Amino acid sequence: MNRKSLLDLAKKHGTPLFVVDHAELRTNYALYKKHFPRVQTYYAVKVNSDPAIVETFYRLGGSFDVASMQEFHTVYRLIEKLPAKERQEFVWDKVIYANPIKPIETLRELDQYRPLVTYDNVEEVKKIAKYAPRAGLCLRLQVPNTGSMVELSSKFGTPPGEAVDLIRCGHEHGLVVEGLSFHVGSQCTNPENYVQALHLAAGIFAEAKLRGYELKLLDIGGGFPAAYDASVPKFSALARKINHEIDRLFPRSIEILAEPGRFLVASAGTAVCKIIGKAVRNGKLSYYVDDGVYHTYSGVIFDHCTYHLKSFKRGTPQLCAVFGPTCDALDTISLSEQLPDLEIGDYLYSENIGAYSAASSTHFNGFPPATVVHVNW
Ligand SMILES: *Cc1c(COP(=O)(O)O)cnc(C)c1O
Repeated sequence: MNRKSLLDLAKKHGTPLFVVDHAELRTNYALYKKHFPRVQTYYAVKVNSDPAIVETFYRLGGSFDVASMQEFHTVYRLIEKLPAKERQEFVWDKVIYANPIKPIETLRELDQYRPLVTYDNVEEVKKIAKYAPRAGLCLRLQVPNTGSMVELSSKFGTPPGEAVDLIRCGHEHGLVVEGLSFHVGSQCTNPENYVQALHLAAGIFAEAKLRGYELKLLDIGGGFPAAYDASVPKFSALARKINHEIDRLFPRSIEILAEPGRFLVASAGTAVCKIIGKAVRNGKLSYYVDDGVYHTYSGVIFDHCTYHLKSFKRGTPQLCAVFGPTCDALDTISLSEQLPDLEIGDYLYSENIGAYSAASSTHFNGFPPATVVHVNW
């Protein structure tokens, strides 16, 4: 987005503003497909569940990773008008319910759609067998998350040593285990996480086969890093390494799935906020703005992400703090930004804030989430 149009949008729609550039979504999707031609791409809806974003990926032929019934329906609404048979095929082929833990009510509702669902423990097998016996199963493995910005392996995934027993457990309950999935941790800048996960998965494919269970699909999850700064390794190099390992370790007949989230949407989101207050605290110039960590900047807390604020005006930069609008001191966007001396009413913006941001906005303190504007839609 160029700065002039951003500023115009902020003046037109008011702030806080969250701008989604759909041309950028399409570019990112095309880039992903270019580097992973063999991989079926399931957009992880939780990363930004805005229905317009989901629709753009739908139009591109994308598949979807959902993790709640709300997310499932955001996708399902797009296909509601199709004939029943096509809807059923769409869910079977293009939706994975990738939350390993599902409430009984969810399973009851999901059963009619016959989706692919992930699991990682015996209790979940029993629940699925009882409440969603028509679902297909995908076993989530625990894999190394070393160096990823957001770690996920402490909450989900079966230890590889127990994987084949859990596959057997699924079959003993009358279910079909279609394949394996893993997640290397979000914003994974360490390619070795993927390499190790692929090796673990290949070992389990082989062991399962010996025990009579033929696995048909491998879901390599998310984690593909957004290019937030120059320290992030090149996507093409990461993809080459992953593809090389997949081709070496798995037969061509295995279906390969992935669930990218951040990579597809991070660079498509830009936040614009307004300076609503200004003070000097402990000798440091402090700006108060109308967006914060309970809103678009939620990633500062939940996503361990830092966002830089930029000014539309020029001036000599100095060390500043930027705080959100709520009464909580936790609502601190940054304690070290380089910004010029600005006035109340001036605007600031942050780029690359499309992932894990607006999606986790709250209404804390009565401040509503930012207005969302879609461009190049
Ligand atoms: C959050 C999540 C994703 C998306 O991860 P990114 O790191 O944003 O690509 C994919 N799969 C699962 C199961 C997730 O929980």
